[in-house]
Amino acid sequence: MPAHRIAVIGGDGIGPEVIDQAVRVVEKAAAKFDKAEFAWNKLPWSTSYYQQHGHMLPPDGWDTLAKHDAILFGAVGNPAVVSDKVTVHELLLPMRRKFDQYVNLRPAFLFAGVPCPLVGKAPGAIDMLVYRENTEGEYAPVGGNLYPGTENEIAVQTGVFTRRGCERILRAAFEAARKRPRKTLTSITKSNAQVYGMGLWDDAYLAVRKEYPDVRSSSLLVDAAAMDFVRKPETFDVVVASNLFGDILTDLSAAVTGSIGLASSANINPTKQFPSMFEPVHGSAPDIAGKGIANPMAAILSAALMLDHLGLAASAAGTRDAVAKVLAEGKVKTPDLGGTATTTQIGDAVLAAL
Ligand code: ATP
Ligand code: MG
Repeated sequence: MPAHRIAVIGGDGIGPEVIDQAVRVVEKAAAKFDKAEFAWNKLPWSTSYYQQHGHMLPPDGWDTLAKHDAILFGAVGNPAVVSDKVTVHELLLPMRRKFDQYVNLRPAFLFAGVPCPLVGKAPGAIDMLVYRENTEGEYAPVGGNLYPGTENEIAVQTGVFTRRGCERILRAAFEAARKRPRKTLTSITKSNAQVYGMGLWDDAYLAVRKEYPDVRSSSLLVDAAAMDFVRKPETFDVVVASNLFGDILTDLSAAVTGSIGLASSANINPTKQFPSMFEPVHGSAPDIAGKGIANPMAAILSAALMLDHLGLAASAAGTRDAVAKVLAEGKVKTPDLGGTATTTQIGDAVLAAL
């Protein structure tokens, strides 16, 4: 099997620290479980790169990235030197659109050994995959201001929902639900209030669900969903939601399953026409950068999602099991989980568990 070509953008702050550990772990997991190899291509794009060159990536940067099978990403951002607007608008948002990464996948899983803020939840009781629409909806850059700065100022922010956009994220979520033991899907909208865009989403949901008679699916309003994420998160399996609702609900699902240091995510182009990108949910965390105490598990679990995407399912499962084992044993923990271990020590422990 030829080596999988992976672009690695560590970025800023704790980004490179946690990504180094993710690279070590998945390299070993892939060799062990799937006899697979990687060709890593480390790219220095970050806010320091921006300070030297005046842009986040070189002019041929997108062509370079396009030649890879996947992108492993740490975090970019150092608001003290470069505005977040630059990092987000020059690198992160264009990547989603250029590479049509229309699925933002965010799993939420309650690991043994991680304290849950909800009482009486057994390990594994919370186990959901949230499919967030990543290219349109409420985050479409459509709108404007009239009479700015005056008492009469008017701002218009338009949500853009297309039938194609709704159907393809719903289909990706149904495909995932079909492969899971519970085969259950919940589609989230607020179509009683946002009648046009969310109405179209609901129409698309009713059409797409006909293709998946083996999946048990239902539609839920976002306010009810927010309550149920706290009251009975164990009832959710695959959840599919618009850009804004998915964003908010996944902060909630991350909060009920423990630490930001465990939350993983993927930005996927399911057609595989373009590379998909895998990144921890957390940012560059300037407050703890350089101290070597960031929890690399979110990055390691994001890299496991990359293994899944590359068809290395055994390696992905092996990686998750190794993380679960270290958490359950509870001997080696970073400060976010109440321990004193370093980033590298977590990498060592996960490697040993493999
Ligand atoms: P962004 O805007 O890029 O999302 P942010 O400033 O909103 O970034 P983070 O960088 O994610 O947020 O940091 C939020 C808090 O969580 C900080 O106190 C940070 O130290 C902590 N944190 C983030 N990631 C980790 C991690 N991997 N391990 C431990 N603590 C973390
Ligand atoms: Mg932030």
